[in-house]
Amino acid sequence: SAKADGGDDFRYYREGAEERAREFVSKTSEIRAGIRRREFAPYFQPIVDAVTGSVEKFEVLARWKHPTRGVLGPAEFIGVAERSGLIGDLSHILLEEAAREMSGLCDRVQRRLVITFNLSARQLRQEMIANHLLQVVIDNGLAANQVVFEITESTIMDDPPTTRRILEELRGYGFRILLDDFGTGYSSLNYLRRLPVDGLKIDRSFVARVADDVTDAAIVKAILAVARELRLRVVAEGIEEEQQAECLRRYGCDQLQGFLFAKPMPGEELEHYLTETAER
Ligand code: C2E
Ligand code: MG
Ligand code: MG
Ligand code: MG
Repeated sequence: SAKADGGDDFRYYREGAEERAREFVSKTSEIRAGIRRREFAPYFQPIVDAVTGSVEKFEVLARWKHPTRGVLGPAEFIGVAERSGLIGDLSHILLEEAAREMSGLCDRVQRRLVITFNLSARQLRQEMIANHLLQVVIDNGLAANQVVFEITESTIMDDPPTTRRILEELRGYGFRILLDDFGTGYSSLNYLRRLPVDGLKIDRSFVARVADDVTDAAIVKAILAVARELRLRVVAEGIEEEQQAECLRRYGCDQLQGFLFAKPMPGEELEHYLTETAER
């Protein structure tokens, strides 16, 4: 009877869970096949100097050139890749490709450009990760000081001592570290105090209303004041309007990133983008 089964609510819940489990399994095998067929590719979004507007670096953002569904964003696959343990392989091909494309671009435009690259929690618990990342970067034509790793607070939370040790290893090799989505976690300031980082990215949620909400403006100013004291670089992300850029410039933010400047783009478009912005 329905009672013995735990009732309709239970059945509903169980079927929902089974459905989700099935989806997880099929998504996992689809991602695995996508990795094998190299359907994942890096897109690049410019990060510009707040004052001069010159392009300083590019954030690498994962995209899936899906055979039937078009170009998919990370919301469609990063979570499943993390939970299924595929994130290491996925990240590997992305870093390989991003470093290769960026080193080619540097040769063509005769500039020393930098990429920023997002790391997952799982990767920062892997024993040999720092050494592995260095190898991938060097094998594909970039130097360690041309790569900045972005980590979030949730990445660190699981195991602060291990994370700390790995971050120190990475910095020992010449990589730099940025705290991403800064301000959204539950103990942002505590991490700043304890972790070896070179800078932070103010989360888009604070940037959105920085020009018209006094509270958000106060928070952004406070973050910038702390960063200045600690000699940390600050990037503001998610800049969509000129007024937001203007505020952040006035408050002393170092670098800006957002659709106002450019959306993430495939590697083939970077050279054109650089020539075009240089002429502006
Ligand atoms: P994130 O690292 O905070 O990246 C910034 C996100 O904001 C990107 O979304 C970017 O496209 C978006 N964005 C940039 N400027 C604007 C703007 O002006 N307005 C709006 N509305 N959005 C803007 P995306 O590419 O969808 O990536 C989402 C998240 O997925 C990233 O957040 C990052 O946490 C994760 N991710 C992306 N690529 C990778 C990867 O290779 N590895 C890992 N582990 N995570 C990744
Ligand atoms: Mg990021
Ligand atoms: Mg972010
Ligand atoms: Mg984010």
